[in-house]
Amino acid sequence: MSFKYLCISALLISCTGLLCSCSSPLSSSVTESGSDAQNLDVFAMNTYMSMKAYGDNAQKALDDSRELIMRLESELSVTDEGSCIYELNKNGKGTVTDSAAVLINKAVEIGDRTGGALDISLYPVLKEWGFTTEDYHIPDDKILADLLSDVDYKSISISGNEVTLPENVQIDLGALAKGYTSDSIMEQMSADGVDSAIVSLGGNVQAIGGKPDGSAWKVSVRDPFAPDTDMCIVEIKDKAVITSGNYERFFTGDDGKNYWHIIDPADGYPADNGLVSTTIIGDSGLECDALSTAFFVAGKDKAVDYWRSDRSFDMILVSDDRKIYYTEGIADSFKNISSMEAEVLRLD
Ligand code: ADP
Ligand code: MG
Repeated sequence: MSFKYLCISALLISCTGLLCSCSSPLSSSVTESGSDAQNLDVFAMNTYMSMKAYGDNAQKALDDSRELIMRLESELSVTDEGSCIYELNKNGKGTVTDSAAVLINKAVEIGDRTGGALDISLYPVLKEWGFTTEDYHIPDDKILADLLSDVDYKSISISGNEVTLPENVQIDLGALAKGYTSDSIMEQMSADGVDSAIVSLGGNVQAIGGKPDGSAWKVSVRDPFAPDTDMCIVEIKDKAVITSGNYERFFTGDDGKNYWHIIDPADGYPADNGLVSTTIIGDSGLECDALSTAFFVAGKDKAVDYWRSDRSFDMILVSDDRKIYYTEGIADSFKNISSMEAEVLRLD
């Protein structure tokens, strides 16, 4: 897969060059960067990942985190023969790891809470579009309709670690796996005694605490209309900032149109419900990742309704008519650096 399509929806501007994995697609390297900061870049889950940690235990925390990422990748990958998800899809039933069980349960919960916008059983449809193999093409209508008739996350049966799928149902955890991974890295680093760290998994950012001087991390979110530039900056401490965008992985069809990797379960086509980028800011990377994908599919009105009834997170939405909407919880730190108009969303 070309790096362009994997690239990053957000990066950290407060430490430019340290966490920007765009410029340096290293497979895995360690660089010292002054003071007591330690950096580690890893390529895993089809994503360039950068991690930065401070303090005496930073190096151990980074090494442990790399090991953790590799373990989660081998458990959760849909294409890796031997992963529990691969086995489950092949056999229609299986015993999944604790991590996979957490993800499947969360996916079903967010599927329910978003009217089915998040549906992890879309995997056969994603395969048909070629998003898993890079053999991209626009599917035949009849094939797509057949595949869609078996898509329904509600048909997944999970009890503890035992999962059963009906015939022709296969799942893929790509919509939530990186958020879960960044949560797990935060837990690992905290257990290793780190209280200031930040990671960017392909642009999905999550932090422990603030910077060592106590100030907030500044995280920039990409402009979906010009993905090489930043659109806005938010300041965070102890939070995840997770983006889904139509520019992250796409191909141009024979008809000249772009087709991207987030699919609307309603018709099996790339979701095109008025949003081109959704960023969720909250305490749980897993929740933010699940919601960013679900809201991309659901569209602005449903995303705003959900936010008004939940309030545990903030969000930045970008509509296809070039408007930015951001929630009032981040109003104090939100800085628009694009030429787009930005409107604050309020609870009442
Ligand atoms: P990224 O992985 O690029 O950061 P997302 O978190 O939005 O972006 O996840 C997109 C991935 O989720 C796709 O590559 C695909 O594997 C999967 N997917 C696509 N559409 C859906 C959907 N409606 N529900 C659940 N998973 C989806
Ligand atoms: Mg997601």
